Amino acid sequence: MSTIVAIATAQAAAGIGVVRVSGPGALAVGDRVFTSVSGRTLSETGGYHALFGKVHDGGCVLDEAVALVFRAPKSYTGEDVVEISCHGGLYVVRRVLRAVLNAGAVPAEPGEFTKRAFLNGKLDLSEAEAVTALIAASGEEARAATLGALDGALSREIADCRDTLARAAAFFAAWVDYPDDEIPALSDEELQHTLGGVRDRLNALLSRFEAGAAVLGGVDTVLVGRPNVGKSTLLNALSGTDRAIVTDVAGTTRDVLEETVRVGNVTLRLADTAGIRSEPGDEIEKIGVERARERMRRATLVLAVLDAAEPLTEDDRALLARCAGRRCVVVLNKGDLPARVTEAEITTLFADGKTAVVTVSARDGAGMAELKTAIEEAVGTAGFDPSLPLLTTERQRDCVRRALSALDEALDGLAAGITADAVNVCVDDAVEALGALTGEHATDAVLNEVFKNFCVGK
Ligand code: GDP
Repeated sequence: MSTIVAIATAQAAAGIGVVRVSGPGALAVGDRVFTSVSGRTLSETGGYHALFGKVHDGGCVLDEAVALVFRAPKSYTGEDVVEISCHGGLYVVRRVLRAVLNAGAVPAEPGEFTKRAFLNGKLDLSEAEAVTALIAASGEEARAATLGALDGALSREIADCRDTLARAAAFFAAWVDYPDDEIPALSDEELQHTLGGVRDRLNALLSRFEAGAAVLGGVDTVLVGRPNVGKSTLLNALSGTDRAIVTDVAGTTRDVLEETVRVGNVTLRLADTAGIRSEPGDEIEKIGVERARERMRRATLVLAVLDAAEPLTEDDRALLARCAGRRCVVVLNKGDLPARVTEAEITTLFADGKTAVVTVSARDGAGMAELKTAIEEAVGTAGFDPSLPLLTTERQRDCVRRALSALDEALDGLAAGITADAVNVCVDDAVEALGALTGEHATDAVLNEVFKNFCVGK
């Protein structure tokens, strides 16, 4: 096993920067670049101890630093680890990294520290995935839910389902293999009850996935409506002090800006398409409008803004027609002025009758609490409970879906009276799919897929 190194902190000027070394040669490599003031070497130092000294490279002193020693298996990776905390200047940290490379370590791949932690049994695959989700968390619910997953809430739920199924399968197999022994037959009802119980728990996990994804990853949202209905005012009212800095979306030109706004427990990624229409020149405006429409097609949530103080125009009706069948909240703005259009009038335009219509005054702040609730309901995050086990990736969802389809097959088979053997094959498939979720017998291909999304140094 090689000894790997990477910068573990952000690549930006900061008070402290950490260079992390892990592997069988971590202490020896560390001793080649670090000399403590006390004269004690890292190799002579016990785990969870720190030394103060100097980092050097080829006779040149690079910085003062603190070196922290972790001894295998009591470290993040389960290997010997040295963390060198130096001054957090961009150049200094990179120079320390180069010194450690010169001393014999090799650069870590993305997520390689966590991959080693997984391979050494420090965490399972679903917990490893929670690490990235926790780092990306942008709100309290996301932090709590991903920390719960890292702490094993999902792993325990999956292990419990899996063990229940494995016990049923083992009992079943014994009964099939040794029919002459006095093993009491498991009644179909008992089996149905056991399998059905696990199915309900897996379904509960699946049903929380979308809401969890919205809480963890945010929601692509568009704010649409005629000029002057109050979109910009609404955006300001929604964002309050949480409004993010406006950034250009990579890959698009100057005309679509994106900003994030925290609404209740979700982050909305809002494409600010409002400016597009005011672009001068027919051709450019046409392209702009087309881009806004494309963005609307892709969005998960549409916030359609209308002016309550004016009768509905043809443009408004066309916009509402495009919202039909979408996750949409219609915002009747300027509720402080005499109403020329009512919520009931809008609702009748939507065949499903389910689209939320909320009257607000973006200028005065009236109705904003109701709007936040309507948004949480539209994206399914209302009442989201971060303490419950949560699937954090598509890969995990896929494993649960596979387990469920095998369980459904087993239950259908039982109902149709197929042989015990055939039912057991399905239960085994379900057990296998749940094992895949937590990474049992994970292939290199699966591991590469999981860890490629990590940052270097994690
Ligand atoms: P946009 O073009 O859709 O982004 O609209 P703006 O946010 O720029 O607002 C257009 C005009 O409507 C401005 O003069 C706002 O002050 C006014 N406005 C926005 N929201 C309200 C509201 O809730 N009530 C009233 N009375 N005026 C509003």
